[in-house]
Amino acid sequence: MQQTRAEERQSEDSPDANPQAGERQAEEAEQQAVQGQAQSEEPQQGAETVEVEPVPVVRVAPDLLMQGEAFALTVESEAASAVVATVGARTWNLLEAEPEVWWTVIPVPRDAATGSAEVTVDLYGEGGAWLRSLSASYIVLVNAAPLEEIILGGTGAPADPAEVQRDIAVRFHDHIAVTGPPRWDGPWILPVEGEVTGVFGAQRSYDGVQSDEWHHGHDIAAQHGDPIVAPAPGTVVWTGEVVLHGMGVILDHGAGVYSGYWHMSLLAVREGMEVAPGDWLGNIGTTGLSTGPHLHWEVIIQGVDVDPVQWLGEDRPPLPVVAAEPEGSADTLG
Ligand SMILES: [Zn+2]
Repeated sequence: MQQTRAEERQSEDSPDANPQAGERQAEEAEQQAVQGQAQSEEPQQGAETVEVEPVPVVRVAPDLLMQGEAFALTVESEAASAVVATVGARTWNLLEAEPEVWWTVIPVPRDAATGSAEVTVDLYGEGGAWLRSLSASYIVLVNAAPLEEIILGGTGAPADPAEVQRDIAVRFHDHIAVTGPPRWDGPWILPVEGEVTGVFGAQRSYDGVQSDEWHHGHDIAAQHGDPIVAPAPGTVVWTGEVVLHGMGVILDHGAGVYSGYWHMSLLAVREGMEVAPGDWLGNIGTTGLSTGPHLHWEVIIQGVDVDPVQWLGEDRPPLPVVAAEPEGSADTLG
């Protein structure tokens, strides 16, 4: 667009250039204004097909991550009214998190292919007109979590399949909506201190029989009754009990990011409550299918489980970048 304007101006200026224009300044100014109007109509018709902006910025961060981690996708575009990312067969709608800054968090599934991967970004303008397609790449490393052998001692009868389905539905499928922008503004805090007894992504065997599933959460063993706290701001969207994971709480942190707290002995919150980091959610227990008092902590992004530990550190998906305030930079200089 800018380039087109510059070309227009050149072709306008050269015929109009008149070194003897001094005398009839006002007249000529009027004439030029008229000519300017007339000439600008022509290129504007042509400009409909040349409606482009500078190539929008697309950022993936982190761009080196493990199976079961998540990245932030940021697209800076003045022209877009909607931005949709595609990874494999799945699409992700970006939020306009700041003016002209589109952003979302995308999980890399535990069973994603390792190596170089690509996210495609489609930008749409007013009325849903497709503007352009861009892409960015990132590297997926293998999640080398060890095999964990769980001894249940053959206790009890197998769970009712319908109850198992409900357990899965509550944790993975019932809470997937993007209800608003991200609610956290920094690293998350640990929901409870204790010994790590299970890591995300580990292949597991139960009583010597290897499962084809992986461990969907991060296990922290603690004393029965120890308090569990919210690691980040959120809304309580579910509390209750399911057959395998026992008593639990699910928080919505915005941006499609949910976290779950399981095997609890006591629930201290109700659905609809807002929580801040450090707020009490309930107590450590061993309800459901569990070998001792511990927290099974999950982070699930629009139905895809990821490693909660990533959210505690500096390699967590970064928030949309907010333009630095001039006051702040002045302070830094002073
Ligand atoms: Zn667990």
